[in-house]
Amino acid sequence: MTTALPSLSALENATEFQPRHIGIDAADEAHMLSVIGEASRRALIDGIVPRSIARSQPMDLPAATTEAGALAELKAIASKNRVLKSFIGQGYYGTHTPGVILRNILENPAWYTAYTPYQAEISQGRMEALVNFQTMVCDLTAMPIANASMLDEATAAAEAMTLAKRSVKSKSNRFIVAGDAHPQTIEVIQTRAEPLGIEVVLANSLTEWNDALDGDYFAVLAQYPATSGRIDDLKADADKAHARSAAFIAAADLLALTLITPPGEWGADIVVGSTQRFGMPMGAGGPHAAFMACRDEFKRSLPGRLVGVSVDVHGKPAYRLALQTREQHIRREKATSNICTAQVLPAVIASMYAVYHGPEGLTRIAQRVAAYTAILARGLKALGAPLREHGAFDTLSLHTGAATEKIAARAVSMGANLRIYFKEYLCISLDETTTRADVELLWKIFAAEGQPLPTFADYADAGVEPLIPAALQRTSAFMTHPVFNTHHSETGMLRYIRQLSDKDLALDRTMIPLGSCTMKLNATSEMIPITWPEFAHVHPFAPADQLRGYAELDEQLRAWLCQATGYAGISLQPNAGSQGEYAGLLAIRGWHQAQGQGHRNICLIPSSAHGTNPASAQMVGMQVVVTACDANGNVDMADLKAKCEQHADKLACVMITYPSTHGVFETQVKELCQLVHQHGGRVYVDGANMNALVGVAAPGEFGGDVSHLNLHKTFCIPHGGGGPGVGPVCVVEDLVPYLPGHATAGVPGGVGAVSAAPLGNAAVLPISWMYIRMMGPDGLKAATETAILSANYISARLKGHYPTLYASANGHVAHECILDLRGFKETSGVMAEDVAKRLIDYGFHAPTLSFPVPNTLMVEPTESETLAELDRFIDAMIAIREEIRQIEAGTWPQDDNPLKHAPHTAENLLAADWDRAYSREAAAFPVPALRRAKYWSPVGRVDNVYGDRNLFCSCVPVSELAS
Ligand SMILES: *Cc1c(COP(=O)(O)O)cnc(C)c1O
Repeated sequence: MTTALPSLSALENATEFQPRHIGIDAADEAHMLSVIGEASRRALIDGIVPRSIARSQPMDLPAATTEAGALAELKAIASKNRVLKSFIGQGYYGTHTPGVILRNILENPAWYTAYTPYQAEISQGRMEALVNFQTMVCDLTAMPIANASMLDEATAAAEAMTLAKRSVKSKSNRFIVAGDAHPQTIEVIQTRAEPLGIEVVLANSLTEWNDALDGDYFAVLAQYPATSGRIDDLKADADKAHARSAAFIAAADLLALTLITPPGEWGADIVVGSTQRFGMPMGAGGPHAAFMACRDEFKRSLPGRLVGVSVDVHGKPAYRLALQTREQHIRREKATSNICTAQVLPAVIASMYAVYHGPEGLTRIAQRVAAYTAILARGLKALGAPLREHGAFDTLSLHTGAATEKIAARAVSMGANLRIYFKEYLCISLDETTTRADVELLWKIFAAEGQPLPTFADYADAGVEPLIPAALQRTSAFMTHPVFNTHHSETGMLRYIRQLSDKDLALDRTMIPLGSCTMKLNATSEMIPITWPEFAHVHPFAPADQLRGYAELDEQLRAWLCQATGYAGISLQPNAGSQGEYAGLLAIRGWHQAQGQGHRNICLIPSSAHGTNPASAQMVGMQVVVTACDANGNVDMADLKAKCEQHADKLACVMITYPSTHGVFETQVKELCQLVHQHGGRVYVDGANMNALVGVAAPGEFGGDVSHLNLHKTFCIPHGGGGPGVGPVCVVEDLVPYLPGHATAGVPGGVGAVSAAPLGNAAVLPISWMYIRMMGPDGLKAATETAILSANYISARLKGHYPTLYASANGHVAHECILDLRGFKETSGVMAEDVAKRLIDYGFHAPTLSFPVPNTLMVEPTESETLAELDRFIDAMIAIREEIRQIEAGTWPQDDNPLKHAPHTAENLLAADWDRAYSREAAAFPVPALRRAKYWSPVGRVDNVYGDRNLFCSCVPVSELAS
């Protein structure tokens, strides 16, 4: 007899993904526990997570399945979406993602696993791509300055409204919106305006528009071209606004701007829009990069991130995030906006699309769209279709009256989605993907039984007149910079993309131990589904029966996240954590109003809170009152109690982060929640630290009323170099009616829309679905516990070298630890920033620098790192401590040592004159392993002050920076 095979269930190995996601195995764990001084993982966790908040029951989630099994299950869900040819338009268009960009950026971890470029030296590649993005937007809109992405067109329009409010002289409270702006944009503007007391005036006819422009207002917004396709000359309207010291905002289409007069040339003050049709699939609404450009006078209050050009210590040009970098952390409730995570990866893709096609390629694409549109219009007219006569680029509108529904249904039966507009109109939008066959199909839809169809033969191959009004044809050049006129061969493009990513450090090369930001594995199997056509090529406003796959994905993911958080209801609409905060505070506000307590507007926030918290509170019209933290880093309960009592009549809520941003599980959190409730307030628990809670404790159970999650932190969506994110808002039962709705998409109720699309960044939701499905409840809990184990291992091993600032009574931390470097200033002149830069020479991305405590490093290793990588990091930190000792001992002067001069570039080290107090070897190869594998920083330390004084934010000829 042969030996029996192992059991079938062992061989089927349904939990195969757990050890792939979690980098620590049983032997590693035993070793780490011995270093920490605990007998078991159970004992460690029980000593850290307060008994009072431990979950009552395990999460009720499906058991883990294999990578192949999860993919097959998700494929079945995806195939419930129906991919029809979309002519809906309304801000979302078909586009061809160039293969070289699809494979080498969207599907390439060197790009998608990068972090937000706070550490300038290791982010030069993605910042160059973002400067290209800014330059492209400036050129196409003819505006002097543009930021590096907004969350979507609708929120960008809302941000433009508040930017205008802050910036113009007019004291009016009225904001005029052209009724033919995209409906989702109008809806988001209305949501944003209400808590701020801004009156939105919708102008639904030419008379209403002209009357409104003659009245009183601080700004006006028009869509250009309008959502119906119409193109109007808006110069006189902009002049009118300026005569009233008001601002004119244009929501514009970048592809159209290659052919029509850019808003900057007719007087727009702010231009917003989406870059979706520059290579990002529709994805049921996102992620896509929106943009905002403005006049020079407004630049210092421009929301979002701005990449600028500065110089490094050697005087060479180098990129870095400008002034606005840590805006919310510096200005908090006075911040211009709460945007933190933006849409960097989609912005990089849009910029690369522009680099690859160049101005001529973009123009050809736009001209082809314009030509098809003109030919389609002529054919429709010949067929007797009720075409409305107006200037157009890509969109036609027809007054179909009572026949509207019938024609739209006929189109669907023939495989095409048309757009129903105001019940009695149909709109048809063409795009880059439109073919002759599509135009013929559209003719067929409008042809009567037996009516002969127009043919392309009528046009031979002669040029056709576009429908663009002659006076509005663009005459100015754009994108003349060499970067847009060089990389047009695929070889050239491939190498340009590679050359940029080689400059950067992302998760594909090193751990990124960023406290609060949770940089864990973004597994390939999780990423695969996002480009499946069933998910990628559907329009967010397609008929509901074509979006059944997304509906099921939404429903399952919400149910699972309810299990993970203990909440009763969730919306996936917010497209970043900051937007989840905003939506959550809107819910609290709406609930208070419904109780007849609308005057409650005080929001208590501990001093250690993330900057987005006060910034979000301000956006819903709440007044922020800061509460103190005690010497152990906990919320000062006495101070909180005093402030609750003092503001009892007006208390709306308190916003806490749990475990705290100091990296500890506060034992009194339940009491804290009760205290706030007793005073009539609600508790907002910032869920950015959920990676320490999943499976272990649930905020919805221990007293939280509202939380946001960051699916791009805890639930494995990659950071993409600073976005996209997903920030679901989670609430307890009585707040469920106050979750966001989306009237444009037919989702009723709630506090209104907070994003352009009903499911926000829908196309990246499969990533979190795959993660939960492959891990199962046990795997998720093991991940949380291992994240805590790894943080405590680092804290324990570094104890003798760098003290951990805050810990619980038993000396343990949560899933991150703050290393206290403040003493070194006195002994050696070394600052936390010097250690962060020196880590680059060792091949590491620095931990979170100076948040929440200045001059510290906050380390969050996550469960995904292996013991070998944790040790490599710890050994680097210890080696750096030894270097600091040499400064303390006087071997190296305080201003001439490897820390102060870090990071070292190859050019710097190979220079003929080396007159430093330390050797070139000590600079480059402080530990032997670096001789075999070395990351070279492409630039020396970047000068932030120079960059803020000289704000260059588009492609600048290097010669201008020479001085
Ligand atoms: C990341 C983070 C946020 C903001 O989330 P975004 O997705 O970047 O908008 C809020 N609070 C905390 C504690 C965070 O770490």
